[in-house]
Amino acid sequence: MRTSQLLIPTLREDPGEAETVSHRLLLRAGMIRKVAAGVYTYLPLGLRVIRKVEAIIREEMNRAGAQELLMPIASPAELWRETGRWDFYGKELFRFKDRHERDFCLGPTHEEVITDLIRREVRSYRQLPLNCYQIQTKFRDEIRPRFGLMRGREFIMKDAYSFDQDEASARLSYQKMYDAYQRIFTRCGLTFRAVEADTGLIGGTSSHEFMVLAETGEETIVYAEAGPYAANVERAEVPPPTEVSTEPTRPLRKVPTPGARTVEEVTALLKVSPQQLVKTLLYTTAQDTVAVLLRGDHEANEVKLKKLLGVTDIALADSARVTAVTGAPVGFAGPVGLAGARIVADHAIKAMRNFVVGANEVDAHYVDANWERDFTVAGFADLRNARAGDPSPQGGGLLRVARGIEVGHVFMLGIKYSQSMKATFLDPQGRETLAVMGCYGIGVGRTASAAIEQNHDAKGIIWPTPIAPFHIHLLPLSQTKPVTDTAQMLYDRLTQAGLEVLWDDRDERAGVKFNDADLIGAPFQLIIGDKGLAQGTVELKHRKSGAVSKRPPDKVLEEAHALLPQGSS
Ligand code: ATP
Ligand code: MG
Repeated sequence: MRTSQLLIPTLREDPGEAETVSHRLLLRAGMIRKVAAGVYTYLPLGLRVIRKVEAIIREEMNRAGAQELLMPIASPAELWRETGRWDFYGKELFRFKDRHERDFCLGPTHEEVITDLIRREVRSYRQLPLNCYQIQTKFRDEIRPRFGLMRGREFIMKDAYSFDQDEASARLSYQKMYDAYQRIFTRCGLTFRAVEADTGLIGGTSSHEFMVLAETGEETIVYAEAGPYAANVERAEVPPPTEVSTEPTRPLRKVPTPGARTVEEVTALLKVSPQQLVKTLLYTTAQDTVAVLLRGDHEANEVKLKKLLGVTDIALADSARVTAVTGAPVGFAGPVGLAGARIVADHAIKAMRNFVVGANEVDAHYVDANWERDFTVAGFADLRNARAGDPSPQGGGLLRVARGIEVGHVFMLGIKYSQSMKATFLDPQGRETLAVMGCYGIGVGRTASAAIEQNHDAKGIIWPTPIAPFHIHLLPLSQTKPVTDTAQMLYDRLTQAGLEVLWDDRDERAGVKFNDADLIGAPFQLIIGDKGLAQGTVELKHRKSGAVSKRPPDKVLEEAHALLPQGSS
């Protein structure tokens, strides 16, 4: 295609609104434009990338035996009420009413709609297993839409749903999707890792997130330095401490700590390390207030806490509640004499003796506090985030930490939806049985963005060939007849050979063309200038390595097939 006929509004300057490389480069390369927060138009180049990612996903989903369908974006509230998600989804759900005042939402995901379909159409075990997928626009009114296509409010997702007659068969369906995801992200040219993810209240280990490793990732993952273990930090288990302090206990003492509220302030004032302090975080649930004890240098893990308490919602108590429960302003809460809250403790506390805690009194802390003697703990559990240097829970030495972008998610749902929506089939004995489900998502735009996060330099994008908008950027450096004729000849022949060529036919200076080509990031640039032609050569430049080779135009044609992405014909 010719540049002069395409809308490719490249920008020389960095747009102020962009915080991440991929957001900035998608805007600068003229691939996307913002319409509203988290809502974008895909311009021709951006759309070509999106379509490439979709094509890879489609091929691998089909190869894995899944079948494509397309569900509506609008879905009626009744279905969501059946599963309780009309209320549970909260503000993230885009809701609207039709002219008859009936409630609808714009689909953020499609478990309800697919389960409704399958319960109507599938009667017998003979029709299972079944895996249906779609590639479709989703809507989620995210609190913080950001990073361009990475976290949009309107975005394209591939979502798949499997239905099986039993657990064992469902595990096979899950494994097939896991394997397909490995192929999809490999083909997209990404460096990624499948990590164990939280399964919420459903439990079990059958949830994996596919994380593209990148500094700008919103997720934190931990992995064993010398083993296969990898998990989202939300889920990573921290084994209980193996060494317990044998220090003799000292008497409890109250000490003044004027104005010292934070771990840093209190430890600096009392000249102790954060490892000798126990912080008390107050959380509210729908029923009560819970005091969570953590070592001073540890971070609370709310996912683990919710699981321990068996609730879906918790929040840090506000200052009014803190004062009501402890009798002191925020910063001085402690477990000694605390009557208004249940006390749970991270199991690191079990190993501690003679520690510092808040005294539930303004400007005061206790030193040499000891659990059991000075206060009662309702339960010890793993309640903190794993961190670098912790032992890996499944061997392989110590944990390391990395940032990741979640591009895909495979999840064993079990009977959560089939039960609430009564999706049953008749088993071989003629009994009504609930279908065992799985769901599998991939963010298409997020995958494209993640590819940029991993493949760029100071000049622009360096697309992995399989998802590049074009394979070759043809750059004639003048408008002379020999240059134009050669460009036309190469364009025709390369296109016929199955390569996708973007022909910069504008009457622009060489510098402008080079800058745009580097920004747009096609894997190869084919440069045609009068000087080279006088010597019978054109230049083929590899965007990634910068390597330039001169060769006669015919030779370029001979080699064309080597430039194609692997796996295409
Ligand atoms: P996150 O934790 O990032 O909000 P999620 O757990 O809500 O993601 P899923 O419901 O599992 O995401 O959706 C499947 C996939 O859809 C994700 O793995 C991600 O690639 C993509 N995705 C989710 N939310 C967005 C969004 N707001 N913008 C773009 N892609 C998204
Ligand atoms: Mg989300």
